[in-house]
Amino acid sequence: MTTEKFEYKNWWKGASAEEKDAAFQFCSGYLSFLNRHKTEREVVAYTEALCQANGFTDLNEAIQQGERLQPGTKVYQNLRGKAFVMAVIGTEPMEKGINIVASHVDSPRLDFKQTPFYEDTDMVLAKTHYYGGIKKYQWVCIPLALHGVVVLKSGEIVHINIGENDSDPSFVITDLLPHLAHEQMNKKMSEAVHGEGLNVVLGAIPLAEEKEEAEEKSKENHKDPVKMNLLKILKETYGVDEADFVSAEIEVVPAMPAKEVGFDRSMIGGYGQDDRVCAYGAIQALLGLTEQPARTVMVYLSDKEEVGSMGNTGAQSAGLTHCIAELCALTAPVYSDLVTKRCFANSALLSADVSAAVDPNYKDAQDKLNATYFTKGVVLEKYTGSKGKSGANDANPEFIAALRAIYDEHQVAWQTGELGKVDLGGGGTIAQFMANLGMQVIDCGVPVLSMHSPFELTCKADIYNAYLAYRAFLKAYK
Ligand code: MN
Ligand code: MN
Repeated sequence: MTTEKFEYKNWWKGASAEEKDAAFQFCSGYLSFLNRHKTEREVVAYTEALCQANGFTDLNEAIQQGERLQPGTKVYQNLRGKAFVMAVIGTEPMEKGINIVASHVDSPRLDFKQTPFYEDTDMVLAKTHYYGGIKKYQWVCIPLALHGVVVLKSGEIVHINIGENDSDPSFVITDLLPHLAHEQMNKKMSEAVHGEGLNVVLGAIPLAEEKEEAEEKSKENHKDPVKMNLLKILKETYGVDEADFVSAEIEVVPAMPAKEVGFDRSMIGGYGQDDRVCAYGAIQALLGLTEQPARTVMVYLSDKEEVGSMGNTGAQSAGLTHCIAELCALTAPVYSDLVTKRCFANSALLSADVSAAVDPNYKDAQDKLNATYFTKGVVLEKYTGSKGKSGANDANPEFIAALRAIYDEHQVAWQTGELGKVDLGGGGTIAQFMANLGMQVIDCGVPVLSMHSPFELTCKADIYNAYLAYRAFLKAYK
């Protein structure tokens, strides 16, 4: 009896010319997606439009009309513009369980505070509060763009997206020159740039006024002429007042475009790949299914993962479970709560989120035997968490074995992994919240370098194999 030594292989080595072409083709679509959609709202709007163009209908309309959903029906539900569900109804009843790929579409960034604008040293700046786990020093001295919405009292939504086009201006957070930074450079990295120091420069020209008019006006209005000029520009450009920013979500994101990286163009660098890289693969995988599925198949895009999946658009909210209950109600002969609960218990979910690849500059952060590497494919991560797997979903080996079989059968390159060395740090995903519903759940995503930085790095081999993995799972998991 012989046995074989087991190791994960570099996908490029065994890939045919056609397979390499397919990976490059897929990633060129991904690159343009990355550059066009940088916030959860923008990804949701993109996905909704894509669904509509591909024969999906709004679940809310079916609910209103009490329409029965037949096998093959494609539906979507937009959850407050920041989370999203899309599904194809299977031939089997919902209570037998469904196959779900779930990723998050929020990324670390800086958010405008509700009273953002102030004038200092003849400049106008915006106060921010960072969102998610960032290394603050990475966000100074890079070109920034502003994306978001201002909601007026009338309910009208004003969209803001400035800093992405060549003709747009950029915004920036300043840093101290090295000549005067002896004190700063001796600080701990976590303290060298303060949260309250992440103020974005927005302008430097004071409001120009007619002389007589200026004399008539109260001194109050003249205290901050540069800020007043900014408010004038905002009013003229967007029709919004300072007070309207109380009901706004303005996200400050890196303005640099995503790019191919390396002489061989084997990698993708860009902002917000955690977790748009998995979201894009998941969306494409569901759209790419051509045959009628037996089990209902679904993609769930969640918000707020980077801050703990809180809020009514986060994965801890009732958004997904409510949507599944609606699908049960519109497909089951008789609806009961038990049908929905059986559906949860029999379902399987890939928590499609990124993992930390081994960094050649920081190899000490990983246990090399259990680490994740660029080029070796999609990562099956049994557990995340920290300090003794605390907060981990810790997937069941029965589920992992089923996925190994599916991936091997469908020629998906996959590897196992963990977030890093024991007790070095840690992190979590939406996996634990989904597992609370009783489903089989595992983290399954793309390895990333420089995670949460303004320019995250991924490898095309892994991006493509994540897409293949999601497609194979949706199609073949029973
Ligand atoms: Mn993530
Ligand atoms: Mn993250």
